[in-house]
Amino acid sequence: MKRNWIRSGRWIHLVLVWVRAGLDALVPEPIPPRYRQAVAVEALRSASYLIPAGSLPGAMAALIAFLSMRDLGHFAFRLGLLSVIWCSTLGLMVVSLLVAQTLRGRDAPFRYRATVRLLALVQGCAWGTLPIALFAAASSDMRVMVACICAGLIATSLAFVSVSGATEAMAVPLIVASYVTLIRTGGPTFVHLSYILVVYGGFILLMSWRMRGVSIDYILSRLMQQEQQTTLQMLLGGEEQAPLSWIWETDAEGRLCFVAPDLAVALRRPVAEIEGQVLSDLLRSVHEHPDEDGLTPSWDRLQECLSGGVAFRGVVVEVDVRGAVQHWSLTGRPLFDAQLHFSGFKGFASDVTGQLLAQRQAAFRAHHDALTGLPNRHALAEALRSALNELGRSATPFGLLSLDLDHFKVVNDRLGHRAGDMLLREVSQRMLACLGERDMLIRFGGDEFVLLSRGASVSSVDMLARRLVQTCETPFTIWDEPVSVGMSIGIAMAPAAGDTAETLIEAADLALYRAKHAGGQTWRFFENAFRRQVEQRRDLLRDLRQAVTDQTITLTFQPVVDAHTLAVKGFETLARWRRPGHGLVSPDRFIKLAEEAGLIEELGGWILDRACAAAQFWPQHLRLAVNVSVGQLYSTRFVGEVAACLARYGIAASRLDLEITETVFMDAEGASFGVLQALRDLGVKIVLDDFGRGFSSLGFLKGFEFSKIKIDSGFVRDMMHDQRSASIVHAVIALAAEMGIVVTAEGVETVAQLTALRRQGCTQAQGYLFSEPVPVDHVSTLLARLRPSMLGAKDYVFDLAQ
Ligand code: C2E
Ligand code: CA
Ligand code: CA
Repeated sequence: MKRNWIRSGRWIHLVLVWVRAGLDALVPEPIPPRYRQAVAVEALRSASYLIPAGSLPGAMAALIAFLSMRDLGHFAFRLGLLSVIWCSTLGLMVVSLLVAQTLRGRDAPFRYRATVRLLALVQGCAWGTLPIALFAAASSDMRVMVACICAGLIATSLAFVSVSGATEAMAVPLIVASYVTLIRTGGPTFVHLSYILVVYGGFILLMSWRMRGVSIDYILSRLMQQEQQTTLQMLLGGEEQAPLSWIWETDAEGRLCFVAPDLAVALRRPVAEIEGQVLSDLLRSVHEHPDEDGLTPSWDRLQECLSGGVAFRGVVVEVDVRGAVQHWSLTGRPLFDAQLHFSGFKGFASDVTGQLLAQRQAAFRAHHDALTGLPNRHALAEALRSALNELGRSATPFGLLSLDLDHFKVVNDRLGHRAGDMLLREVSQRMLACLGERDMLIRFGGDEFVLLSRGASVSSVDMLARRLVQTCETPFTIWDEPVSVGMSIGIAMAPAAGDTAETLIEAADLALYRAKHAGGQTWRFFENAFRRQVEQRRDLLRDLRQAVTDQTITLTFQPVVDAHTLAVKGFETLARWRRPGHGLVSPDRFIKLAEEAGLIEELGGWILDRACAAAQFWPQHLRLAVNVSVGQLYSTRFVGEVAACLARYGIAASRLDLEITETVFMDAEGASFGVLQALRDLGVKIVLDDFGRGFSSLGFLKGFEFSKIKIDSGFVRDMMHDQRSASIVHAVIALAAEMGIVVTAEGVETVAQLTALRRQGCTQAQGYLFSEPVPVDHVSTLLARLRPSMLGAKDYVFDLAQ
């Protein structure tokens, strides 16, 4: 079998193939023209590091030869050799330095290359003189030295390997000179040595060609890869914004078979360590952050694609680069050989850590409030969705709390917005300290917060609300000033209060409304009745709007009487609304609703106009009283409206009483006081209504000069059987007398009440004892029924005896 193989001559074929491969290896592939310049530059650059190292041994050898061969040859020859070698070495060093520094311009590399070649030739020729001049006359010791120097220098010429022709320029003269010297010396030993020299010399030259080929191949592949990289980045979207990308390639087993140096740099590991590693193993040194379901989807996708031979694009995985976590986006497609067998993957990886971080920061900003750092309403929507999912999956209840600061506006107005901002931060810090692990606090906007308490029970939420209210009870310190705000909370428990985000938020808001109405600084749980009441309120408001538009609200007038003479002093205007299908609605209710719905300016303006229109026909000495809500006093426009209205119906300003309640003192901005003052300046009288019902403080009376005080009907009703009410009535009448202002007792229903009030010195009275509020067209009838006064013919006097 073996003999057949030999006889068949196939070995000749093999040898030929081998020789051809060898020759091919020696003759490098031609360099594509567009890379020639760049390859020359790179070759010179790598030579510039080797040449100084390679020429130093020559310089040293020249010095040793100069010193140790004292008895050999002429001194001038040795000095000349030393000078030539040292000068050319210096020249080579300078050229190398220049090459490393200034390889710019089209021809520069070629000029440098010619210089290096020339200097190498100078060195080769200079050294070539050494054996020719000294070998024949030298002792055997010296001959060994000369031979060693020559042999060493032939080998040193490999330092010039990257500069084509330079190794030859140095080695060939030396080889030739050495060969000639050996032949000339004669004798079998030297002749044999000359053969060995030729073989070794030839080997050095072959090696230098091969090494140059390899180095040029390497340079070429690096240049091509860089070019690919640039193209890739351009394709990825502009050189500037494109992330760094690296090409990778694996074999059929998933092992990295081509590792670009840049990829190794990116992984901060040597190429050798990475090459041959399974790609997924390399990326497996990742910190895997399992998501909520315990899976890492991108990683799994990558695995699936790699094992299934499926192309993938932009799969982001986390990579551990020497302890630092980076996010890499991987794109790859499978490769197939000529037989269409799967042969691996090729693709690129790019570091998208920066982009991802920027994305995450943007997402954080989108979901968090800039002032407090708390999640915002967008985050609430997501959290609620997930809580509702959990509720659906595992029936885990949760609480949704709607929180609102009491009197925050006062702080904002008094100390400014920056103080308000500081307060909000402090409040959120205190609240956070009250929360449990599964609670999420959200800033909804302004001074409104929402708290999502997952896995909570009624009692746990009750306790949480108590903690939150209590934590705000301790005053805050803003700019060294103590600031007090309260916290009101409305609570909706899911699923009892609702099973959608909207219904739950609405329920919590309704409960909050209740807490606010209870005076604030407290919490309320949502009850289903709230919703019905809200619906009723909504319907009521709709009808009220309609009534205001259609002007179907009517006015009644109730006489105000002198407590002693019982003469009519004037009429108070009281609004009436008969709601279609529902009957009369108490003005207490619809006026409040109009205030809350922002309808009061329109409604109040209309009432004033109608009242003045009615009063223009009354006897001139009768006064007109109109109730005014605080909501009408916020804008100075009101003063103009009043003046215009009086002018329109020819009513003197001094005939008009505007009745306001103590709620006006709750207006922190004090704007309404300016309006009241302007009204007073107009000549209109300002009356303090319902004195004693609300927050009555004597301070109020000091702060503004009222023309009249009206004692709330509640005290008048109770004064006959309740000592405290009697005392208050007594005190108010005494106070008014002291201040010299009129006092009207409201709600007088009995003669006994009137008698008691008279005794105490009350100046005016109003109530059913005299008349109920009557429609406008009844006013004249009412007056006609009264007996004319004995004192002044103009007066209309009630006769209670009748
Ligand atoms: P107010 O200003 O204190 O009005 C007096 C209230 O006492 C009126 O109730 C009146 O009908 C009632 N009243 C009069 N005499 C007696 C009596 O002898 N016994 C009893 N028990 N009550 C008597 P009304 O009309 O229900 O009005 C309630 C409140 O609604 C008013 O209290 C006033 O604050 C407000 N209001 C009524 N009309 C207007 C209006 O046009 N504008 C504004 N802003 N508020 C109004
Ligand atoms: Ca009144
Ligand atoms: Ca009143």
